[in-house]
Amino acid sequence: MNLILLGAPGAGKGTQAVQIAEKYSVPHISTGDIFRKNIKEQTPLGIKAKSYIDRGQLVPDEVVVEIVKDRLSWEDCKNGYLLDGFPRTIAQAEALDKITEVGTVINIAVDLQKLMQRLTGRRVCADCGESYHISSFFGSKCSKCGGKVIQRDDDKEETVKSRLDVYVKQTAPLIEYYEKRGKLVSVDGMQSIPEVFAQICAELK
Ligand code: ADP
Ligand code: AMP
Repeated sequence: MNLILLGAPGAGKGTQAVQIAEKYSVPHISTGDIFRKNIKEQTPLGIKAKSYIDRGQLVPDEVVVEIVKDRLSWEDCKNGYLLDGFPRTIAQAEALDKITEVGTVINIAVDLQKLMQRLTGRRVCADCGESYHISSFFGSKCSKCGGKVIQRDDDKEETVKSRLDVYVKQTAPLIEYYEKRGKLVSVDGMQSIPEVFAQICAELK
Protein backbone atom coordinates (compact mmCIF):
# COMPACT_ATOMS: atom_id res chain seq x y z
CA MET A 1 0.00 0.00 0.00
CA ASN A 2 1.78 3.14 -1.23
CA LEU A 3 -0.17 6.00 0.32
CA ILE A 4 0.12 9.78 0.37
CA LEU A 5 -1.72 12.14 2.72
CA LEU A 6 -2.37 15.50 1.11
CA GLY A 7 -3.89 18.52 2.81
CA ALA A 8 -3.27 22.01 4.11
CA PRO A 9 -1.24 22.55 7.29
CA GLY A 10 -3.58 21.64 10.14
CA ALA A 11 -5.88 19.51 7.97
CA GLY A 12 -5.24 16.56 10.28
CA LYS A 13 -2.62 14.62 8.28
CA GLY A 14 -0.43 13.76 11.26
CA THR A 15 -3.42 12.86 13.43
CA GLN A 16 -4.82 10.48 10.81
CA ALA A 17 -1.40 9.16 9.74
CA VAL A 18 -0.73 7.57 13.13
CA GLN A 19 -3.96 5.57 12.94
CA ILE A 20 -3.64 4.65 9.24
CA ALA A 21 -0.04 3.46 9.70
CA GLU A 22 -1.10 1.25 12.60
CA LYS A 23 -4.15 -0.23 10.87
CA TYR A 24 -2.40 -0.96 7.56
CA SER A 25 1.05 -1.76 9.01
CA VAL A 26 2.98 0.71 6.90
CA PRO A 27 5.68 3.13 8.10
CA HIS A 28 4.52 6.71 8.68
CA ILE A 29 7.00 9.03 6.96
CA SER A 30 6.53 12.69 7.83
CA THR A 31 9.07 15.06 6.26
CA GLY A 32 8.12 17.66 8.89
CA ASP A 33 8.98 15.16 11.67
CA ILE A 34 12.30 14.33 9.96
CA PHE A 35 13.19 18.04 9.87
CA ARG A 36 12.14 18.60 13.51
CA LYS A 37 14.29 15.65 14.64
CA ASN A 38 17.27 17.11 12.76
CA ILE A 39 16.64 20.58 14.21
CA LYS A 40 16.57 19.10 17.72
CA GLU A 41 19.86 17.28 17.07
CA GLN A 42 21.32 20.39 15.39
CA THR A 43 22.53 18.47 12.34
CA PRO A 44 23.61 20.45 9.22
CA LEU A 45 20.28 19.45 7.62
CA GLY A 46 18.38 20.69 10.68
CA ILE A 47 20.20 24.03 10.70
CA LYS A 48 19.48 24.54 6.99
CA ALA A 49 15.82 23.45 7.24
CA LYS A 50 15.16 25.66 10.28
CA SER A 51 15.83 28.84 8.33
CA TYR A 52 12.97 27.97 5.95
CA ILE A 53 10.59 26.43 8.51
CA ASP A 54 10.81 29.44 10.84
CA ARG A 55 9.65 31.69 7.98
CA GLY A 56 6.80 29.37 7.01
CA GLN A 57 8.52 28.63 3.69
CA LEU A 58 9.18 25.27 2.06
CA VAL A 59 12.58 23.62 2.33
CA PRO A 60 14.09 23.46 -1.22
CA ASP A 61 12.79 20.60 -3.38
CA GLU A 62 16.19 18.99 -3.98
CA VAL A 63 16.84 18.70 -0.22
CA VAL A 64 13.46 17.09 0.56
CA VAL A 65 13.51 14.78 -2.45
CA GLU A 66 16.90 13.33 -1.44
CA ILE A 67 15.63 12.64 2.09
CA VAL A 68 12.48 10.89 0.84
CA LYS A 69 14.38 8.92 -1.81
CA ASP A 70 16.70 7.57 0.87
CA ARG A 71 13.88 6.86 3.35
CA LEU A 72 11.81 4.94 0.77
CA SER A 73 14.79 2.65 0.10
CA TRP A 74 14.68 1.29 3.65
CA GLU A 75 13.61 -2.32 4.19
CA ASP A 76 10.41 -1.32 6.08
CA CYS A 77 9.01 0.33 2.91
CA LYS A 78 9.12 -2.89 0.88
CA ASN A 79 5.40 -3.54 1.49
CA GLY A 80 4.27 0.05 1.34
CA TYR A 81 4.49 3.38 3.09
CA LEU A 82 2.44 6.39 4.16
CA LEU A 83 3.88 9.77 3.16
CA ASP A 84 2.67 12.70 5.29
CA GLY A 85 3.58 16.21 4.10
CA PHE A 86 5.35 15.06 0.94
CA PRO A 87 5.04 15.91 -1.91
CA ARG A 88 4.27 19.61 -1.42
CA THR A 89 5.13 20.93 -4.90
CA ILE A 90 4.60 19.69 -8.45
CA ALA A 91 8.38 19.27 -8.80
CA GLN A 92 8.40 16.98 -5.73
CA ALA A 93 5.51 14.93 -7.15
CA GLU A 94 7.33 14.52 -10.46
CA ALA A 95 10.49 13.45 -8.65
CA LEU A 96 8.47 10.97 -6.57
CA ASP A 97 7.01 9.42 -9.72
CA LYS A 98 10.57 8.57 -10.77
CA ILE A 99 11.31 6.88 -7.43
CA THR A 100 8.17 4.83 -6.77
CA GLU A 101 4.70 3.86 -8.02
CA VAL A 102 2.29 6.03 -6.05
CA GLY A 103 -0.90 4.17 -5.04
CA THR A 104 -3.69 6.19 -3.44
CA VAL A 105 -3.49 9.89 -2.57
CA ILE A 106 -5.85 10.82 0.26
CA ASN A 107 -6.76 14.50 0.19
CA ILE A 108 -8.05 15.75 3.54
CA ALA A 109 -10.25 18.65 2.44
CA VAL A 110 -10.79 21.46 4.95
CA ASP A 111 -12.16 24.97 5.14
CA LEU A 112 -8.99 27.10 5.01
CA GLN A 113 -10.66 29.87 7.07
CA LYS A 114 -10.93 27.50 10.05
CA LEU A 115 -7.30 26.38 10.04
CA MET A 116 -5.82 29.32 11.93
CA GLN A 117 -7.64 28.21 15.09
CA ARG A 118 -6.56 24.60 14.66
CA LEU A 119 -2.92 25.48 14.11
CA THR A 120 -2.45 28.16 16.76
CA GLY A 121 -4.22 25.81 19.22
CA ARG A 122 -2.10 22.80 18.32
CA ARG A 123 0.30 21.46 20.92
CA VAL A 124 2.77 18.64 20.30
CA CYS A 125 4.87 16.32 22.40
CA ALA A 126 8.51 17.44 22.17
CA ASP A 127 9.61 13.79 22.47
CA CYS A 128 7.24 11.62 20.41
CA GLY A 129 5.43 14.25 18.30
CA GLU A 130 1.91 13.27 19.41
CA SER A 131 -0.52 16.04 18.47
CA TYR A 132 -3.05 17.69 20.81
CA HIS A 133 -5.35 20.69 20.74
CA ILE A 134 -5.90 23.21 23.55
CA SER A 135 -9.68 22.74 23.22
CA SER A 136 -9.36 19.23 24.68
CA PHE A 137 -5.88 19.11 26.22
CA PHE A 138 -5.31 20.87 29.52
CA GLY A 139 -2.17 19.26 30.97
CA SER A 140 1.50 19.70 30.14
CA LYS A 141 2.64 16.08 29.75
CA CYS A 142 2.10 13.74 26.80
CA SER A 143 -0.41 11.00 27.62
CA LYS A 144 1.51 8.54 25.42
CA CYS A 145 5.12 8.96 26.57
CA GLY A 146 5.09 11.50 29.40
CA GLY A 147 7.14 13.99 27.35
CA LYS A 148 6.72 17.75 27.58
CA VAL A 149 3.89 19.14 25.46
CA ILE A 150 4.83 22.39 23.69
CA GLN A 151 3.73 24.77 20.94
CA ARG A 152 5.64 24.48 17.66
CA ASP A 153 7.48 27.71 16.76
CA ASP A 154 5.88 27.66 13.31
CA ASP A 155 2.36 27.47 14.82
CA LYS A 156 2.51 31.15 15.84
CA GLU A 157 -0.04 33.28 13.97
CA GLU A 158 2.35 35.15 11.62
CA THR A 159 4.10 31.97 10.47
CA VAL A 160 0.79 30.15 10.04
CA LYS A 161 -0.33 32.90 7.62
CA SER A 162 2.73 32.30 5.39
CA ARG A 163 2.29 28.51 5.58
CA LEU A 164 -1.33 28.75 4.43
CA ASP A 165 -0.31 31.08 1.63
CA VAL A 166 2.43 28.66 0.55
CA TYR A 167 -0.11 25.83 0.63
CA VAL A 168 -2.52 27.64 -1.71
CA LYS A 169 0.20 28.61 -4.19
CA GLN A 170 2.49 25.58 -4.18
CA THR A 171 0.72 22.54 -2.73
CA ALA A 172 -2.98 22.84 -3.66
CA PRO A 173 -2.16 22.30 -7.40
CA LEU A 174 -1.26 18.71 -6.45
CA ILE A 175 -4.97 17.95 -6.04
CA GLU A 176 -5.44 18.33 -9.78
CA TYR A 177 -2.12 16.60 -10.50
CA TYR A 178 -3.26 13.39 -8.79
CA GLU A 179 -6.90 13.73 -9.88
CA LYS A 180 -5.78 13.69 -13.52
CA ARG A 181 -3.80 10.52 -12.86
CA GLY A 182 -6.82 8.81 -11.25
CA LYS A 183 -5.09 8.44 -7.88
CA LEU A 184 -7.00 10.95 -5.73
CA VAL A 185 -9.66 10.29 -3.12
CA SER A 186 -11.01 13.17 -1.04
CA VAL A 187 -12.34 13.01 2.50
CA ASP A 188 -14.12 15.70 4.49
CA GLY A 189 -11.58 16.88 7.06
CA MET A 190 -14.11 19.09 8.85
CA GLN A 191 -15.69 16.04 10.49
CA SER A 192 -14.55 14.74 13.88
CA ILE A 193 -11.24 12.83 14.03
CA PRO A 194 -12.93 9.35 14.23
CA GLU A 195 -15.29 10.28 11.38
CA VAL A 196 -12.41 11.34 9.14
CA PHE A 197 -10.60 8.08 9.93
CA ALA A 198 -13.72 6.01 9.15
CA GLN A 199 -14.09 7.77 5.80
CA ILE A 200 -10.43 7.15 4.94
CA CYS A 201 -10.78 3.44 5.80
CA ALA A 202 -13.92 3.19 3.66
CA GLU A 203 -12.06 4.76 0.71
CA LEU A 204 -9.14 2.34 1.12
CA LYS A 205 -11.32 -0.80 1.04
P1 ADP B 1 -1.36 18.40 10.00
O1 ADP B 1 -0.47 17.21 10.25
O2 ADP B 1 -2.19 18.22 8.75
O3 ADP B 1 -0.63 19.71 10.00
P2 ADP B 1 -2.50 17.79 12.64
O4 ADP B 1 -2.88 16.35 12.49
O5 ADP B 1 -1.27 18.07 13.45
O6 ADP B 1 -2.42 18.51 11.18
O7 ADP B 1 -3.75 18.57 13.25
C1 ADP B 1 -3.69 19.98 13.53
C2 ADP B 1 -4.47 20.30 14.82
O8 ADP B 1 -5.86 20.07 14.60
C3 ADP B 1 -4.08 19.43 16.01
O9 ADP B 1 -4.16 20.23 17.17
C4 ADP B 1 -5.12 18.31 16.01
O10 ADP B 1 -5.33 17.80 17.32
C5 ADP B 1 -6.35 19.03 15.47
N1 ADP B 1 -7.22 18.18 14.62
C6 ADP B 1 -6.82 17.20 13.75
N2 ADP B 1 -7.89 16.65 13.12
C7 ADP B 1 -8.99 17.32 13.58
C8 ADP B 1 -10.40 17.22 13.32
N3 ADP B 1 -10.90 16.34 12.43
N4 ADP B 1 -11.23 18.06 13.97
C9 ADP B 1 -10.75 18.98 14.87
N5 ADP B 1 -9.43 19.11 15.17
C10 ADP B 1 -8.55 18.30 14.54
P1 AMP C 1 4.72 19.84 8.65
O1 AMP C 1 5.13 19.19 9.93
O2 AMP C 1 4.36 18.83 7.58
O3 AMP C 1 3.68 20.90 8.84
O4 AMP C 1 6.02 20.58 8.09
C1 AMP C 1 6.66 21.63 8.81
C2 AMP C 1 7.55 22.44 7.88
O5 AMP C 1 8.61 21.60 7.35
C3 AMP C 1 6.86 23.02 6.64
O6 AMP C 1 6.20 24.25 6.90
C4 AMP C 1 8.05 23.19 5.69
O7 AMP C 1 8.82 24.33 6.01
C5 AMP C 1 8.90 21.95 6.00
N1 AMP C 1 8.51 20.80 5.12
C6 AMP C 1 7.90 19.65 5.49
N2 AMP C 1 7.69 18.86 4.42
C7 AMP C 1 8.16 19.54 3.34
C8 AMP C 1 8.20 19.28 1.95
N3 AMP C 1 7.69 18.15 1.42
N4 AMP C 1 8.75 20.21 1.15
C9 AMP C 1 9.27 21.36 1.64
N5 AMP C 1 9.25 21.68 2.94
C10 AMP C 1 8.69 20.78 3.80
